[in-house]
Amino acid sequence: MPLTPVLSRYWDDPQSWTLDTYHRHDGYEALRKALKMQPDEVIDTIKDSGLRGRGGAGFPTGVKWGFIPQDDAKPHYLVVNADESEPGTCKDIPLMLATPHALVEGVIIAAYAIRASHAFIYLRGEVVPVLRRLQAAVSEAYAAGYLGRNILGSGYDLDLVVHAGAGAYICGEETAQLDSLEGRRGQPRLRPPFPAVAGLYACPTVVNNVESIASVPPILQNGVEWFRSMGTEKSPGFTLYSLSGHVSRPGQYEAPLGITLRELLEYAGGIRAGHQLKFWTPGGSSTPMFTDEHLDVPLDYEGVGAAGSMLGTKALQLFDETTCVVRAVLRWTEFYAHESCGKCTPCREGTYWLVQILQRLESGGGSETDLEKLLDISDNILGKSFCALGDGAASPIMSSLKYFRDEYLAHFEQGGCPFDPHQSTLMA
Ligand code: NAD
Ligand code: SF4
Repeated sequence: MPLTPVLSRYWDDPQSWTLDTYHRHDGYEALRKALKMQPDEVIDTIKDSGLRGRGGAGFPTGVKWGFIPQDDAKPHYLVVNADESEPGTCKDIPLMLATPHALVEGVIIAAYAIRASHAFIYLRGEVVPVLRRLQAAVSEAYAAGYLGRNILGSGYDLDLVVHAGAGAYICGEETAQLDSLEGRRGQPRLRPPFPAVAGLYACPTVVNNVESIASVPPILQNGVEWFRSMGTEKSPGFTLYSLSGHVSRPGQYEAPLGITLRELLEYAGGIRAGHQLKFWTPGGSSTPMFTDEHLDVPLDYEGVGAAGSMLGTKALQLFDETTCVVRAVLRWTEFYAHESCGKCTPCREGTYWLVQILQRLESGGGSETDLEKLLDISDNILGKSFCALGDGAASPIMSSLKYFRDEYLAHFEQGGCPFDPHQSTLMA
């Protein structure tokens, strides 16, 4: 399957982030087109395209926009979730760094479609270069008449604010993000009501991922048939896969949904020389891991789901045979325990205990009953936590025990980790 660079097609251009470069690549032409359409027509186009949310859950974007009540007197808001934090996920940050105007144009079109006059981009505060790029692009867009009052003479007004978060993983959860934007401590809210009904300041709000919004201008520009000519019927279009870890050429690869890891590895130069693939995540650490048996699984929502995992953020983290799976899972679990917001007991207490047990096992202590304890605690987190963070913490443990139980046993049978940490470039 060939690569399909659309969003990434001019990331290598000099000064790719400026308005001049964006104009050279037909920038803001899709906006001109959208402003001549009725907002509902824009929503219908995105619905017909079948674009699915690229933040992880794959919810249809146009359907989400269609939930915004049109007879409501309350203001509507658009919030772009740019708080990319899922371990291994590195596609939104490169996109915003290379082509911030692709996101800004998408924001204006999406806000017009849902009849919002205020939009926000909620960005991780740590990525200061991205913050500066976005702020510069927003200023350029105001100066060019793409933002502010009476955009391109259409009578439509929009203000766009780039908001820097303080770096908590939980603020990537959409309702925690809304609390954070309102100035409160970011913790998930009960859903329903979903943000489309009661979101920012209790008003109808669309929360969309960066890549989803940046995909809107090319769809409007090139049409629904063009978009649907890529990918599969239920997962149409192109998307950004990020490959990291023990791969020869890590990075972002834009391809149709449904491509396989075997095909992606051909573009990425394969696993590092002299080594073999051992395990990998299809969509970040919160998606159940795969092994070398899964190289031909189609990387779309249905294909990955049928094989027992989730497409998630399409963050493919690859580990070769030098990696200790117990140590990798311990690192991820420490991350989830640290980032647990503490609101619900299964996740707050469960992730703490998972770390204790994994540390014991990894250092050669523990016993076989610890494996049952890991499964029991994970089972008490999965589906019983308040938000998806808890499920994400349980996934690597349960899937690693499914495929690598013997490696867990080897740790306490040999009284220590059987792997040489210096052999692995990732886990040392
Ligand atoms: P979800 O399936 O509950 O919701 C997905 C989206 O659809 C949300 O915007 C939600 O508001 C909307 N939605 C769902 N049902 C709705 C309804 N009935 N009415 C109106 N709107 C509705 O998933 P989620 O909990 O929002 O997100 C979980 C995903 O986040 C995971 O799959 C994971 O891959 C991903 N994730 C991504 C990152 C990252 O860095 N990008 C980090 C952590 C997790
Ligand atoms: Fe907070 Fe974890 Fe519960 Fe989510 S699952 S609400 S992060 S404690």
